[in-house]
Amino acid sequence: MIQMTNVSKWYGPVQVLNNASVQVNKGDVVVVCGPSGSGKSTLIKTVNALEPVQQGEIIVNGIKVTDPKTDLPKLRSKVGMVFQHFELFPHLSVTENLTIAQIKVLGRKPDEAKTRGLKMLDRVGLMAHKDKFPGQLSGGQQQRVAIARALSMDPMVMLFDEPTSALDPEMVGEVLDVMVTLAKEGMTMMVVTHEMGFARKVANRVIFIDVGGRILEDCSKDEFFGNPEARQPRTKDFLSKIL
Ligand code: ADP
Ligand code: MG
Repeated sequence: MIQMTNVSKWYGPVQVLNNASVQVNKGDVVVVCGPSGSGKSTLIKTVNALEPVQQGEIIVNGIKVTDPKTDLPKLRSKVGMVFQHFELFPHLSVTENLTIAQIKVLGRKPDEAKTRGLKMLDRVGLMAHKDKFPGQLSGGQQQRVAIARALSMDPMVMLFDEPTSALDPEMVGEVLDVMVTLAKEGMTMMVVTHEMGFARKVANRVIFIDVGGRILEDCSKDEFFGNPEARQPRTKDFLSKIL
């Protein structure tokens, strides 16, 4: 589904991705972790070309993201993205948030978009809030709307960038529950998170990136958590701080 090969990126003189190669197969749940500033957000944003790269190749479901001729809006419409800060449209109702991209980007009829959007809203348990505005919802609820919005586009893969790190602790669980359900239903997911409970539950792979954008670990969840002796010193140090 996602094939990144020898991807490097610089901001000016600063290298933020260093020869990164990542393969995500259909149905994979890949958790990406690493210290602040290591390039996790940058890595995940390169998948739908929100961040361009100077070297390497990225292919998503057969579409060459790094080819200048690629229709990026079309690609992005099929790659669901959920950010740390929800990024809902504050002036639109929940239902309008769920339908606007379906109508404007996918060309769906308003009725069809509404049916699809509300089905996804129901899936994240928020049907009762369909006519509210984002500001009337808790952070956890807003993030679940953001997930429903992404799902309404029928994405082939979902990217999450620290989806729970801006939430009050008591709201983390409700968002993770939605993500766990998605994962168990077979959604292909790439998830930047430090929620190692989530990783243990549903990840099939864990990637660790170190500062400078170098992938130090890319292994199965069982190997990552079950065989600490085999981990790099940087990884062990990181895990000792967050676990
Ligand atoms: P992470 O998500 O792991 O915290 P980021 O991918 O956000 O890391 O950032 C990686 C590095 O790139 C950091 O050193 C950050 O300061 C730098 N960086 C991120 N965005 C920009 C930008 N737009 N311009 C310059 N430097 C940036
Ligand atoms: Mg980040």
